[in-house]
Amino acid sequence: MEIMQSESVVLEPLQSSVLGKPLLRVVRMMQGDHPSLPSVSVYFQGCDAYPKCFGCHNPETWDFDEKFAVDFSHLVKHVVAKLDTLLNVYDKVALVLLGGEPLSPRNRKYAYMLAKIVKEFFQEKVVVLIFSWRTPKDLLELDVPLDYFDEYVLGRYLQKYHRDGFPASANQLYLTKEELKQIFETLKINKQEKKGEELCNF
Ligand code: SF4
Repeated sequence: MEIMQSESVVLEPLQSSVLGKPLLRVVRMMQGDHPSLPSVSVYFQGCDAYPKCFGCHNPETWDFDEKFAVDFSHLVKHVVAKLDTLLNVYDKVALVLLGGEPLSPRNRKYAYMLAKIVKEFFQEKVVVLIFSWRTPKDLLELDVPLDYFDEYVLGRYLQKYHRDGFPASANQLYLTKEELKQIFETLKINKQEKKGEELCNF
């Protein structure tokens, strides 16, 4: 989509030599990656789902290839400038993180830092949505903080559950941060109850 240009936003410079480099496929301004908001969509490169999802729409993003390494501060400036451009037209927009797998060990800290910078800078004007093949149970076990992601699409893409709606696979969970926290609480309680039962049966 064509959006009018706006002045770019200046941020504090980041020490990318210290932070390392994410693998990135492309950054696009899109309609459709978020169910209701126009988005700046960041497609990370590299997918750690095994086996891969049959019918995956983005197989070109599977390889963890260093030729896709980008400077993180450059990525931040690019994303912020695109968000700023969208916000000249819309009151509220989305930053969508997908791929590939944004929560792969290679890219998860960059997905987190990008979300943190964007949320601190734009606050409620930008909704951060992250896609992951991982389930809520998998996320509970990840040692990456999730506080700056507002919304999630979780679960694998399964072609047999493909639909025209959102998300594209009917088995996938579209959750707010609050809904995910509730699921975490339920999972923790279930785990404690299971441990208790195991102790009683010992
Ligand atoms: S997790 Fe995403 S990128 Fe990876 S195979 Fe599945 S649909 Fe494709």
